[in-house]
Amino acid sequence: MPITKAKDLIRLRVALVIGALIVASFMVADFLLLPSTMHSLYTYDRLFIQIPIIFAVVLLSFWRRFEYYRAYIFTALLVLLTYSNYWLILVCWQEFQFAFPYEGTILYAFYCVFALGIPFRFAITSAVINIAGFIVLMWLAPAYGDRMPISIGFVAASLFTCSYAKYRLDSSLSLLKKTNDRLTKLSKFDPLTELLNRRALRNQSESLLAYARRHNVSLAVLMLDLDDFKKYNDKFGHQQGDEVIRQQASILKNIFKRETDIVGRYGGEEFVVVLSDVDDKKLVQICENLLKDWKEENVPHAPGAVNAFMSCSIGAVMTKKPNDITIDGLIDIADKALYTAKDKGKARFEIAQM
Ligand code: GH3
Ligand code: MG
Ligand code: MG
Repeated sequence: MPITKAKDLIRLRVALVIGALIVASFMVADFLLLPSTMHSLYTYDRLFIQIPIIFAVVLLSFWRRFEYYRAYIFTALLVLLTYSNYWLILVCWQEFQFAFPYEGTILYAFYCVFALGIPFRFAITSAVINIAGFIVLMWLAPAYGDRMPISIGFVAASLFTCSYAKYRLDSSLSLLKKTNDRLTKLSKFDPLTELLNRRALRNQSESLLAYARRHNVSLAVLMLDLDDFKKYNDKFGHQQGDEVIRQQASILKNIFKRETDIVGRYGGEEFVVVLSDVDDKKLVQICENLLKDWKEENVPHAPGAVNAFMSCSIGAVMTKKPNDITIDGLIDIADKALYTAKDKGKARFEIAQM
C-alpha cells in the first residue's frame, strides 16, 4: 500500500475515534438537560447504537476493499447516525412529551462530510435522505410546536449549505490537482515533442545508471541531430521545421518502447536516448533502424543539403562497465561520435569504442 494511502487511513481512523469521543462528551451535557426518566433510553441510543456504529466503521477500515467502498460506508454512517438521532427524538416525544434537540443532525453532517471527506455526490444524497427523514419525523412527532417550520427550514438549509460547501471544496481541489498535473507535465516534458526535456532526461538517466550499476548491465547513450536543418528551416520555414522535429520524436517513440528506455529532446533538433542492457549488435541494429526510418519517411530536403531527403546523424556509445563512468561522460563521448558522423558526410552513425 502506498505510504500516502496508509497515512490517509490512519487519519480517517483517528477522525472516527474523535467523532466517537465527541458523541461521548455530549452525553455529559445531555444528561444534565434530560429528565432522569429518559437517561436509560438516551444511554441506549448513544452507547449501544451510535458509538458501536462508529467503531464498526473503524473495523471496516481494515477491510482490503475499504478504499473502494469508502464513500458508501461513510454515507451510510452519516445516515445511520442521523436516523438513530431521529429515533431518539421520536421516542422522547411519544413516550415523555420531551422535545429532544435536533441540532446534532447538523453536526453529524458537517463532521462526516468534512472530517471524513464524503464526496459532494454522496453528501447531497445523504442531505436529501436526512431532510426527508426530518420532515417525516416532524409529522410523526411534532416536538417543536410552532417552531416546526423554522426547524425544518434550518435543518434543510444547513444540510444543503454543507453539501454546497463540499461541492466548492471538491471543485477547487480538482482544479488544483489539474493545475498541479499540468505543471508537473510542463516541468518534465518538452511541449513540442512530448519527449522528456533536458532536465528530466538527466534525472531519469541518473536513475537508469544507478540501476545498471546495481544489476551490472550495460548502458548505451545515443545522440541524434538532424542533418542540414538550418537549410530546411530557411527553405520551408520554422513551422514546417517544427513538424520535422515532431516526426523525429515519433520515429524515436516507435523504436524505443521498453519501459526503461529514456528518450528526450536535448536541444533544438538534438535528441538523446539512454538504454540499459543492450549489446554491440543490438546497438548497431538500432542505429540502422533509425536511419532506415528517416529514409522511409521520404521528406524532401532543401536544395544544397547533403541528402535530397531529410536524414539524421547519430553518435553512440555503449559501456559494459557502468561503474566507471558518469552520464555526462557518456553524453560527451556520444556527442564527439556524432561530430565524427557529421564529418564523415552525415546520414550515418558512429559508435565510439570504450
Ligand atoms: P548539421 O547537419 O551540421 O547539424 O547542420 P544544421 O544546419 O542542422 O546545424 P545545427 O544542428 O547547428 O542546426 C540547428 C538548427 O536547428 C538551427 C535552428 O534554426 C534550428 N532549430 C533549433 N531549434 C528549433 C526548433 O525548435 N524549431 C525549428 N523549426 N528549428 C529549430
Ligand atoms: Mg544541432
Ligand atoms: Mg543539425
